Amino acid sequence: MLKLGKYSVGLGDRFGHQGRAQVKAIMKASAKGIEITPVWNKSNREHITIGTQPGDVRAEADSATKLAQYSKPYFVDADHINIDTVDRFIESSDFFTIDVASYIGKKADAGEIDEFVASVEKYTGKLEIPGTKLSFITTKQQIVEIAEKYLFAAIKAFDIYRKIEKAKGKQNFITEVSMDEVSHPQTPVEMFYILKMLASKNIPLQTIAPKFSGRFNKGVDYAGDPLKFASEFESDLMVIDFAIKEFGLPENLKMSIHSGSDKFAIYPYIGSIIKKHNKGIHVKTAGTTWLEEVIGLAESGGEALMFVKEIYIKSLEKIEELCAPYADVIDIKLSFLPSKSDVLLWDNNRFAASLRHVPGNKDYNANMRQLIHVAYKLAALKLDEYYKLIEANETTVSQCVFENIYYRHICRLFDIK
Ligand SMILES: [Zn+2]
Repeated sequence: MLKLGKYSVGLGDRFGHQGRAQVKAIMKASAKGIEITPVWNKSNREHITIGTQPGDVRAEADSATKLAQYSKPYFVDADHINIDTVDRFIESSDFFTIDVASYIGKKADAGEIDEFVASVEKYTGKLEIPGTKLSFITTKQQIVEIAEKYLFAAIKAFDIYRKIEKAKGKQNFITEVSMDEVSHPQTPVEMFYILKMLASKNIPLQTIAPKFSGRFNKGVDYAGDPLKFASEFESDLMVIDFAIKEFGLPENLKMSIHSGSDKFAIYPYIGSIIKKHNKGIHVKTAGTTWLEEVIGLAESGGEALMFVKEIYIKSLEKIEELCAPYADVIDIKLSFLPSKSDVLLWDNNRFAASLRHVPGNKDYNANMRQLIHVAYKLAALKLDEYYKLIEANETTVSQCVFENIYYRHICRLFDIK
């Protein structure tokens, strides 16, 4: 069976030009003793917005790894697919993030709920997670509620899984189930029963992406209590560990964090907790590659700076349209956005510093950063010009991409000095 390594990072690259810089970051971590499997992910939504095909991501991953002479495993993730969108990803992907969020809360048949509840009867009451201080008390009524909320989603996950399995063969892909794009987090107790549901469907789950407490806004830091996150995360890890043994799930099953990028406030907790328990992790960092391209173009000055200024000015005009698909995962305070006339006066360093995610830098503007994050559609409308500029300024742009992934993400997560 294809197996995902202990540490893996989901890398987004919307415009498909930064694979080499991303591989360079992975190889630098390896040279420092941290082996990370790169996984290139791109959702259907991003493909539609830009007009790319899933096969383009495969082509980029193959060529970037080849050029870098990177000979270790890497994967291409069909990110957040469902039964309707999976088809065109099947050929080029070998990692599938099965998104069941839209099925959560829909009820399965009464018979299936009864069967599930009966199958977990022995866990009713006090359940202690062996080898930990963790214990839960669940009444039968709570288990029924959990089944009513999640069993249908687990059944749907299986339907989607089967569709992929039929086309690709059982051993030939990695399966993730994601439930992160919902408004309420799953508790560790819910996680325990969800894993039981997925295990009883025999889904060879290698990663699971729950929704955690706090806000995971795109491209900016975590908004919430990092200590609360840490305790929830640690409990989930213990639950996964127990579920592997108890339900016969794959040994290498691990947590996938759909970070929406840049959750610097919680990275040190994630890093220290996985180290403490000797566990693996998959962290999706998604779309900040595009932001680094914008930062690199700004730094380059001249027509490249003018191009990104125009993108920003246009994004102010089209703010509602651009933000609508991301309403749940961005939080932009309009009054903190710089005006068109301000930005037109900025030099290259000022524009770059406003977007570059360096907490504490007085010029850094998280509101502007989020707006640019969702404004990639505007570059997609001028694709030829955009590609010409990132190619002409490749050295600066790819250095920005590399430094972002390596220093701000990987070093923080894996405590590389
Ligand atoms: Zn997600």
